[in-house]
Amino acid sequence: MTHPTQPEASHFIDGHYLEDAGGDRMEVIFAATGAVIARLHAATPAILDRAIDSALAAQAAWAALSGMERGRVLRRAADIMRARNRDLSVLETYDTGKPLQETLVADATSGADALEYFGSIAAGLTGAHIPLPGGDWAYTVREPLGVCAGIGAWNYPTQIACWKAAPALACGNAMVFKPSELTPLCALKLAEILVEAGAPPGLFNVVQGAGAVGSALTTDPRIAKVSLTGSVPTGRAVYAGAAEGIKHVTMELGGKSPLIVFDDARLEDAVGGAILGNFYSTGQICSNGTRVFVQRDLKEAFLERLRARLQDAVIGDPLDEATNVGPLVSEGQLESVLDYVDKGVAEGARLVCGGARLDRPGAWMTPAVFADVTDGMTIAREEIFGPVMSVLDFDDEDEVVARANATPYGLSAGVFTRDIQRGHRVIGRLQAGTCYLNSYNDAPVEVPFGGTKASGVGRENGHAAIAHYSQEKSVYVRMGAVEAPF
Ligand code: NDP
Repeated sequence: MTHPTQPEASHFIDGHYLEDAGGDRMEVIFAATGAVIARLHAATPAILDRAIDSALAAQAAWAALSGMERGRVLRRAADIMRARNRDLSVLETYDTGKPLQETLVADATSGADALEYFGSIAAGLTGAHIPLPGGDWAYTVREPLGVCAGIGAWNYPTQIACWKAAPALACGNAMVFKPSELTPLCALKLAEILVEAGAPPGLFNVVQGAGAVGSALTTDPRIAKVSLTGSVPTGRAVYAGAAEGIKHVTMELGGKSPLIVFDDARLEDAVGGAILGNFYSTGQICSNGTRVFVQRDLKEAFLERLRARLQDAVIGDPLDEATNVGPLVSEGQLESVLDYVDKGVAEGARLVCGGARLDRPGAWMTPAVFADVTDGMTIAREEIFGPVMSVLDFDDEDEVVARANATPYGLSAGVFTRDIQRGHRVIGRLQAGTCYLNSYNDAPVEVPFGGTKASGVGRENGHAAIAHYSQEKSVYVRMGAVEAPF
């Protein structure tokens, strides 16, 4: 291993790396080999205090800058990220196990897009002028919330940190970010880069630790808003914790999204969409279309093309750019996913291919495809968060819409058809926050991203994110005399 993976210290606070060896020990494991690649400590209460206090101190001066000045810092950070894309991508691969072929194009690059996008609109964040009867008028001021907490999942550690930090900072907030304990390395690099780009020390701090650290951040009265990317059970806990302080929240949670393939779809595109929506990042993507409904006439042709294309998957060293399927993030995640494969078989689904553990160190398995899956099976109801695709048959439009919506989740949905009216009609009926027509899993920063139902509250990306990191102050201005009744 030639790339440095051990950070200077566990936390990044007030513009510097900081250690407190009193915190619980954390080992970072490279999922591809099982090797320990870094040793860190979780944040103690003293570390958390310093992180929040220094963010509070930085926030006031940052909010007093113009949007143009704040935006300049974010855009400079975007340029630095792009210039260091290869190094940041290699680190992302060590942190998560995802193949370098993916991380080179999907992680630091997407983080840089968020910094550039929100950096570019920072100068345009203005209020409104509202004319009123009698010459009176009102104006609104868009104000920051204060110090926001960001809590991340492990599948996209750079992207998640940037998707939260960029809009938060653009609006004049500061942020204390806690990465997943499984992938603590990448957010530290973002903190370094922001300081290098001119952000005041303390504006973006990173603290390490497990759920308890996230929970302490959530309930701390100095924190104005909590933005979580994680599972639905964690979302419930964080939402409840934030409710005590009537805090703002953004909840980017899990899903069990439908991907509907009508029999007039272009077969190669539909198969490609299903591959992207189930096996990219070894299936560890919240928006994945894991319930693939295929209209009965197309089913066998679909399964045949899928099986053939899966034979071209290159499973191997994620640092080799030819590899396109890496390991699961951890041994624990692998065991959980293999349990679901066993349940699929036990409940009568047909395992078309894959689903086997690979006999090598690290958290490896082959991508699994199940056919003849029915709605009540565990693999069709629960989020697996791994490379397991369930193919379900359907006959007509009303039936598939009803079945697609019969889930507590509502993150994403996709439709493949060549019938343009049907495509939009069906998308219109699907209960999901982020939909795809003849595509799957695109996430450009210009487009709002988020879920409905149990999949979340609020939106990341696009102009929509601004509303979730700022609040409007209304100011009524009377031009004439004040007429009081007595
Ligand atoms: P978890 O819900 O287990 O954890 C998410 C983060 O929350 C971690 O940093 C975790 O800490 C922290 N956490 C855990 N408990 C608490 C608590 N009580 N209070 C505050 N913070 C807490 O999710 P995973 O990391 O396992 O990620 C997978 C999940 O994330 C999937 O459900 C997936 O769908 C979802 N996800 C959603 C996305 C979206 O945008 N909608 C995108 C990506 C993933 P730690 O793990 O370190 O203990």
